[in-house]
Amino acid sequence: MTDNSTTETEADMTGVTPRRRPRAHIDTIGDRKLSPATLMMGHGYDPMLSEGSLKPPIFLTSTFVFENAAAGKRHFEGVTGKRPGGAEGLVYSRFNGPNQEILEDRLGLWEEAEDALTFSSGMSAIATLFLALVRPGDTIVHSGPLYAATETLIAKVLGRFGIHWLDFPAGATREEIDEVLSKANAGRVALIYLESPANPTNALVDVEAVRASRDAIFGTGPDAPPIAIDNTFLGPLWHKPLKHGADLVVYSLTKYAGGHSDLVAGGLLGDKALINTVRSMRNTIGTITDPNTAWMLLRSLETLELRMTRAGENAAKVCEFLAQHPKVEHVGYLGFLERGDNARQADIYRRHCTGAGSTFSLYLKGGEAEAFAFLDALKIAKLAVSLGGTETLASAPAAMTHLSVPDARKRALGITDNLVRISIGVEDAGDLIADFDQALATA
Ligand SMILES: *Cc1c(COP(=O)(O)O)cnc(C)c1O
Repeated sequence: MTDNSTTETEADMTGVTPRRRPRAHIDTIGDRKLSPATLMMGHGYDPMLSEGSLKPPIFLTSTFVFENAAAGKRHFEGVTGKRPGGAEGLVYSRFNGPNQEILEDRLGLWEEAEDALTFSSGMSAIATLFLALVRPGDTIVHSGPLYAATETLIAKVLGRFGIHWLDFPAGATREEIDEVLSKANAGRVALIYLESPANPTNALVDVEAVRASRDAIFGTGPDAPPIAIDNTFLGPLWHKPLKHGADLVVYSLTKYAGGHSDLVAGGLLGDKALINTVRSMRNTIGTITDPNTAWMLLRSLETLELRMTRAGENAAKVCEFLAQHPKVEHVGYLGFLERGDNARQADIYRRHCTGAGSTFSLYLKGGEAEAFAFLDALKIAKLAVSLGGTETLASAPAAMTHLSVPDARKRALGITDNLVRISIGVEDAGDLIADFDQALATA
């Protein structure tokens, strides 16, 4: 709903009256470009189109009334791709709705994306992206490890339809990436798919190196495979991969963007032409987010910067405390990369990230018994999987999210029995430290 600048209904050359569009949104004051934190409160929504309601109503409707038959035809030309650029008006709620459009406009602002889509979950965003781009016989090249369900989708589900995959480790060098991409180039590569930082290793991917490698091996023409990246852990505040050469960014909006552990949703931002391809698939299979969830996400985005900033500050304090505790073996926190001995990861961090996030790995001295005793003793932090909410969560990946991962792979990924994954929330940092202190005393 962003690309029109008038409230008046205006007849176009076909004589069809398009629906009223939101009033010109303000994104600059003089020379000053307004920041996303400011624009989250109003961008893309004109109260005067909804009885003056300050907040957008939730549009609970399955379908939209056309002004006349010619308008209906024109909308369907957009929906079906007969005319590029998508539908100009609202048609049917599997394709779009006002709440989702406002959400997509605002979400895209954080990374200055050309376009954005939202989905019913992070996984439905990823699945729709893959379905839109792959054909039998294609290869997906990906960084590893990936979110477990994404790995299952690529290897087990798409594998059944004749899709192959090749991977390189998340921390791979330019030479290692070149080697895998050159090998993949024997057939058609549908997509280069990244996740950074990787879960649960926190290993960062050198997006700039992947882009340079892609351009060198496949060229920059329209047949070069697009680069997509799952930016759930650090985005959109601390990592903006479109700036480092990615074409598309994927989100589980369930995590930091939603931020209150009360919804499930996904997002996709980036290159307009690619987004249009994925939109057609979403229109076909109906993986769009629902109006109620879209509305909740609009509320979440208003506090995104506040929440993530506070969570990041809290995590820095908590990690400082944990790192010097005698019962702690190691803290895998991105903020400590500069102090460690992995110069390559520290270099990627400096070039790509503006913050260390609030999700990290805590390795306790001992094994499963110590990890479980610690988890069971926590009084503020909740024992649950997921991350990025206002509340602090802790879990044991080896016994929970990664229980079914084979032992050898677990070892390779550092998923040991003494590992506790922690996502820090927006509570008082001193209270959190007191909680971890008493739980460590018990463990
Ligand atoms: C949670 C998560 C997903 C999946 O998102 P859902 O919203 O649960 O479908 C994908 N990638 C990463 C990195 C995640 O943390």
